Amino acid sequence: MNSEIKPESEKSLNFIEVFVEEDMKNNRFGKHIHTRFPPEPNGYLHIGHAKSICLNFGLAQKYGGLTNLRFDDTNPVTEDVEYVDSIKEDVRWLGFDWGDREYYASDYFDTLYAYAVKLIEKGLAYVCDLSVEEIANNRGTPTRPGVESPFRNRSVEENLKLFEEMKNGKYKRGEKVLRAKIDMASPNMHMRDPILYRIIHEPHHRTGNKWCIYPSYDFAHGQCDSLEKITHSICTLEFEVHRPLYEWFIKELEIFPSRQIEFARLNLTYTVMSKRKLLRLVKEGYVNGWNDPRMLTICGLRRRGYTPASIRAFAERIGVAKRDNIIDIAVLEFCIREDLNKTAPRAMAVLNPVKLTLINYPEGKTEMLKGKINPEDENSAFRDIPFSKHLYIERDDFMENPPKEFHRLSPGKEVRLKYAYIIKCVDVIKDASGHITEIICTYDPETKSGLPQANRKVKGTIHWVSEPHALKAEVRLFDRLFLKENPDEVDEGHDFTENINPDSLKVAEALCEPSVDGARNLQSFQFERIGYFCCDKDSTPQQLVFNRTVTLKDTWAKISGKM
Ligand code: ATP
Ligand code: MG
Repeated sequence: MNSEIKPESEKSLNFIEVFVEEDMKNNRFGKHIHTRFPPEPNGYLHIGHAKSICLNFGLAQKYGGLTNLRFDDTNPVTEDVEYVDSIKEDVRWLGFDWGDREYYASDYFDTLYAYAVKLIEKGLAYVCDLSVEEIANNRGTPTRPGVESPFRNRSVEENLKLFEEMKNGKYKRGEKVLRAKIDMASPNMHMRDPILYRIIHEPHHRTGNKWCIYPSYDFAHGQCDSLEKITHSICTLEFEVHRPLYEWFIKELEIFPSRQIEFARLNLTYTVMSKRKLLRLVKEGYVNGWNDPRMLTICGLRRRGYTPASIRAFAERIGVAKRDNIIDIAVLEFCIREDLNKTAPRAMAVLNPVKLTLINYPEGKTEMLKGKINPEDENSAFRDIPFSKHLYIERDDFMENPPKEFHRLSPGKEVRLKYAYIIKCVDVIKDASGHITEIICTYDPETKSGLPQANRKVKGTIHWVSEPHALKAEVRLFDRLFLKENPDEVDEGHDFTENINPDSLKVAEALCEPSVDGARNLQSFQFERIGYFCCDKDSTPQQLVFNRTVTLKDTWAKISGKM
């Protein structure tokens, strides 16, 4: 046997799982894994966060561990409980459970303060009176050492006194900061006396007015992981260069040595992912709120008709990478199609209708035809589809002067109406301007679908609805929000909003078969031959509203070969 061939279970490990299994084997943290998802409550979660959620909760599930939900709420200016609530809802909706382990960085403010005092006592932190700009200017460059602060050699006593005064509100914002005393010549810029605490006289959404100094992200994040005894602290690549600093804190504070592992953040084509940009789209009215179905926020995707299973499948399919990359958004669309194909009930709906009358069908008669609710399900039940003399078909399914390869309806030609009969076009009626207003056909009663003699072949099958039974619905036809694969690709002095697709939303009226009556919010359907649609929260019994989740086929790119 070739010893190079690994057992199946080992083959599929990603690099993070390899690290975790190594650590378990070496007893680094015992046989135990504990992860966390650490959002900053300063915006709604997006598909990139979903990737991180699936990764953190997925790892713990796979290895029988636990995952905490921890809000990294160290910046009172941008944070809000509205975001906290939405984040919890979204994580739960994705199918993950943090039990009673809901934590906040702000819960640890006392401990973090004590850690800062400990560093001061060890001579490893000092109060600096330089402004934030001066500090930045004195940091040097990766090839040129920084300039030491004139306040760097304050005594421990003086630092303790000043830090306490900072805490007690004696100073204004920007007057003083607390910095670590590490090495202004370090080749790693993050080790050049980074800021640990800054003064912000703003109430915090949880601690109120208790604090007017707040820890920096770098001083809070790793310490919170240690306090929660997180074994594997998974974060995105830009934090790789922060790792030596986090390890310095662990060593000097003698705290739990969480292991940080970095992976490449998710980037998607035709999308912006940073919360700052998503906030601009909302604030500047390019979309109608965080849950606009064109937004790749989790609440936007949900309203669009994406299912938790499809998002989890997406996260699984793209895997974890060590290098930055860009995933084709077609992969996400593929995942939702694959899911809804198995689960969404079928219905017929006509989006751009033209009247069609069967002259040899009795006036006033209604026949109930049968269609499978979902042909992908071998035990599928059937739905009733009413049929009558007066129908609507899709205007595009008729051509008066068709090219040879057109296999739908045209004068003198036959086509099958799905679940019904073969019909033949015998006439067209036009208005004064030559616009077709009605198509006149005959139907062949011998060709009813399902009958043994119905096997007469015609090349095309089209969908339809019965005029007297049709339900009107508003349909919102979404397209990609950006025209460019990389929306940030703009000329000097311009910004990503200039790449917004002006036609990303078209509203139309659809005529639907009656089985969609009573559709509930978030209920999905496949409108046959058209796409997947999801009932919107704006829908009422009087006015149905559907969002187009995705078309049936990828109309933008070929994804085969990219998967
Ligand atoms: P943004 O750049 O959108 O503001 P962020 O990193 O500031 O994102 P956080 O709330 O701090 O947002 O993120 C919470 C967690 O989600 C972090 O662990 C972060 O690494 C992860 N995360 C954020 N964006 C992505 C992404 N695009 N791909 C993968 N993980 C991400
Ligand atoms: Mg962040």
